[in-house]
Amino acid sequence: MIDQYGRSITYLRLSVTDLCNLRCRYCMPAEGVSKKRHGEMLTEDEMIRAVEAAARLGVTKLRVTGGEPLVKPNIVSICGRAARVPGIDEVCLTTNGVLLPELAADLRRAGVRRVNLSLDTLRPDRYAAITRCGTLEKALAGLDAALSAGFDKIKINAVLIGGFNDDEIADLAELTRRYPVDVRFIELMPMPGGEAFGPECYLPVSRVLDALPKAAPESSDGVARLYRLPDAQGHIGLISPLSQHFCADCNRIRLTADGRIKPCLHSAEEISIKGLDDAGMEEQLRRAIYGKPACHGELSADSRSLSARNMNQIGG
Ligand code: SAM
Ligand code: SF4
Repeated sequence: MIDQYGRSITYLRLSVTDLCNLRCRYCMPAEGVSKKRHGEMLTEDEMIRAVEAAARLGVTKLRVTGGEPLVKPNIVSICGRAARVPGIDEVCLTTNGVLLPELAADLRRAGVRRVNLSLDTLRPDRYAAITRCGTLEKALAGLDAALSAGFDKIKINAVLIGGFNDDEIADLAELTRRYPVDVRFIELMPMPGGEAFGPECYLPVSRVLDALPKAAPESSDGVARLYRLPDAQGHIGLISPLSQHFCADCNRIRLTADGRIKPCLHSAEEISIKGLDDAGMEEQLRRAIYGKPACHGELSADSRSLSARNMNQIGG
C-alpha cells in the first residue's frame, strides 16, 4: 500500500516479545522490563492474522525481532506459519545469536531465509560490558550455527559507539573477508530506556570509511550504503539514522508484541490491533500506513527519540 507521501510500504517488523536474555546498555535498563500480563500480549494466532492482514495490504517482507525473539518458546512455529502466509516472500530474523546453536537449523527449516546477528565488539571484556551480562563466546557460537544452517544471507549488525568500539572497525570489517557475511555499522540512536551516552559516543558512520581506506563503494541496499573490501565475501554496510536519515525512502512499519502498530520508530504514535478481528486489524494497519509521518524529528545526544518505548519493546 502507498502512504500519504507516496512511499510504498512493503516491510513489516514484528516484535514477538519485549523480553531479552541480554541487557545492552543502549537498548534497555539494567533491571530489564517488568513482565506484562500474558493477556496484554498478542497471541501467536493474532500475530499470524496481523501478518496476513499486512500481506493483504502489500507487505512482502517480514522481519521477526524483539526483545530477543529466540527466548520466545514458540518462535519456530511463529516463523514457520509466517513464512507460509500468502504474499510474504521473505521471513528474516534479528537476534543476538546466543540461542542460535539450539535453534538455527529449526528456524532455517521453518522458512527463515535471512538472519541479522547483533555483535558490537570482538573483545570478550567489551562484549560483557556492553551487554551487561553476555559472553562473546556464546554470540560467536551463534554466528557459527547461523553459518552452518545455510541461511540465504547473514548480516552482522554493530552499533558504532565512540570510545567503545571505534577502534575495532577494521577487526569487525575483517569478518567480511573471513566469512560470507555483511557487516553493517549502525549509528547509535538516543532511545528511551537506554543509558545516556555522552556526545562523544555519537559518531557518524562516515568514520567507518576513514578506518577502511580500501573499501570501495557498491550500490545501496535498503537503508544501508554498501562498500566492499578487496577480496571480501560480503559487504560493509553503513546505516545512518542520525547523520543522514532515510525517511524519504522508508518502506516499513512496526508491530509491537503487545499489538501496537508504530508507523515510525521515533514517533510516540501507536495504533492498537490487540483483540481485533481480521477486518479490524486490516483497517488499523491501513490507517497506520496511510498516516505514516513524513519524517522523524532531529536525533542527537541532546535530542532523544520521541518514541514512548525502549528499543527492546520495538525491535530496532
Ligand atoms: N535482540 C535482538 C538483537 O539484539 O539483535 C533483536 C532486537 S534489537 C532491539 C534490534 C537491533 O536494534 C539490534 O541490532 C540492536 O543493536 C539495535 N539497537 C538497539 N538499541 C539501539 C540504539 N539505541 N541505537 C542503535 N541501535 C540499537
Ligand atoms: Fe536484547 Fe537486542 Fe536490546 Fe541487546 S539490543 S538488550 S540483545 S533486545
